[in-house]
Amino acid sequence: MPAIKKILVANRGEIALRVMRTAREMGISTVAVFSEADRNAPHVKYADEAVCIGPPPSKESYLASDNIIAAAKSLGVDAIHPGYGFLSENAGFAKAVKEAGLIFIGPSPASIEIMGDKLSSKHAVAAYDIPMVPGTPDAITDRVAAKAKAAEIGYPILIKASAGGGGKGMRVVEKEDEFDEQMDRAADEALSAFGNGSCFIEKYFSQPRHIEIQIMGDQHGHVVHLFERECSIQRRHQKLIEEAPSAILTPEIREAMGICAVNVAKACHYYGAGTVEFIVDENLNFYFLEMNTRLQVEHPVTELITGIDLVKEMIHIAEGKPLSFKQEDLQIKGHAIEVRVCAEDPANNFLPNVGILQTYVRPQGNGIRIDDGIEEGMEIPIYYDPMIAKLISYGNNRTEAIEKIIRAIDEFKITGVVTTLPFCKFALRHEAFVSGNFDTRFVSLYFTPEVLEEEADKNELEIVAVLAAELLKNKNKLKKADNGTTTVNNASQWRKNRKN
Ligand code: ADP
Repeated sequence: MPAIKKILVANRGEIALRVMRTAREMGISTVAVFSEADRNAPHVKYADEAVCIGPPPSKESYLASDNIIAAAKSLGVDAIHPGYGFLSENAGFAKAVKEAGLIFIGPSPASIEIMGDKLSSKHAVAAYDIPMVPGTPDAITDRVAAKAKAAEIGYPILIKASAGGGGKGMRVVEKEDEFDEQMDRAADEALSAFGNGSCFIEKYFSQPRHIEIQIMGDQHGHVVHLFERECSIQRRHQKLIEEAPSAILTPEIREAMGICAVNVAKACHYYGAGTVEFIVDENLNFYFLEMNTRLQVEHPVTELITGIDLVKEMIHIAEGKPLSFKQEDLQIKGHAIEVRVCAEDPANNFLPNVGILQTYVRPQGNGIRIDDGIEEGMEIPIYYDPMIAKLISYGNNRTEAIEKIIRAIDEFKITGVVTTLPFCKFALRHEAFVSGNFDTRFVSLYFTPEVLEEEADKNELEIVAVLAAELLKNKNKLKKADNGTTTVNNASQWRKNRKN
């Protein structure tokens, strides 16, 4: 396959910029696509060329595959990188890109198709001795049989949409008499959100951790894993804080999960970057959840602990090159943590809170990486995902990574929109997070809007304390200038006198 010279990134925001930066480092020119809402967005300014592909709603722009492919063809593009979200897991798009004579920087349409559906992915891996979450192997058509299975698994159970994604299409059923109602709701939701109403049952884990394995495969049948990411701090089944490595995995479990993930990839002849997600119970038993056939939002933490640029590797793989490393070349070095900065109000159920970004000052310094796609003064469009930036820290160990990211959160100045940063700071300092002893229930167990108020009060108290100390210092200086002794000495003298 010929070398790629020009890439179109079929995405927006931070991920479009992140892909273009690596392309630029590789001497590859870049094309941005944008909707009318993103005319002045940073990813448009950064690209060598840019094309408007439609009005603001995603369906008419970032999901309009024909417009995107037409733009690529008219500008002599060799390859399309889909980023994450939008068309990244759309097998039809990957196929159309190929049929247009372009390279899709990602897996084959067949792999996307198999893994894009939770049930078909479970079928595909069945022969590979992968631990599976107990549940129904097929879509529910017979309610009586489904209820019998639910009783066998034991309530509560989870009804999931086969085509589900982004934490949507999941319903917990606490007891049998709620089954029919929740089943109807799940099917309706799945039909309207994904155009496919088929649902299945899974055992509902009451204290689960979400731990996933990054894999990478080439077109010559080599597949390796790049260790795990711990993603258990979530709201609405969606991740907010991710870290690598996990605080709880032993080398043996890491190795076992890695082997399983490689086998999952092999089950669908996978190439490119992919993620195999597992649910881990309180005894560290792990079970296959699903595979995401794309670059993940949280990929930077893996890049930091392995030193590998995943996008560069994806481009090489798309060019037909073999993987540039073997499993035994990979090592975990240090610790990385990512927090998602979303324009959401943690005090109001994490509801999106878009508006104009009046102040936007990024933190800097040793061990801090920011991936974003916004600028001060910009309006956060209501049409797209509310994530505006990713703040990532890297340290020699977990404690250092936590210290650095908290320092960076304190330096991050954002006004005009409310963000998830105060919640993230709360979580990162919480005893459960610090000890590593937490699961996906973190928000429901420990978080209430009041803790942010307490935090704000604490900050105010700290400021008052600093000001008071400053005042005292100045007063002491003045006194010293007056009589040649310091107040501190006076105070210790006073204490001495009192003892006597
Ligand atoms: P999606 O494709 O919508 O992201 P996933 O299957 O990846 O759905 O699950 C998203 C999250 O939902 C998980 O990280 C976990 O928090 C929760 N979850 C999924 N399956 C289960 C389960 N069987 N028991 C408990 N929680 C689950």
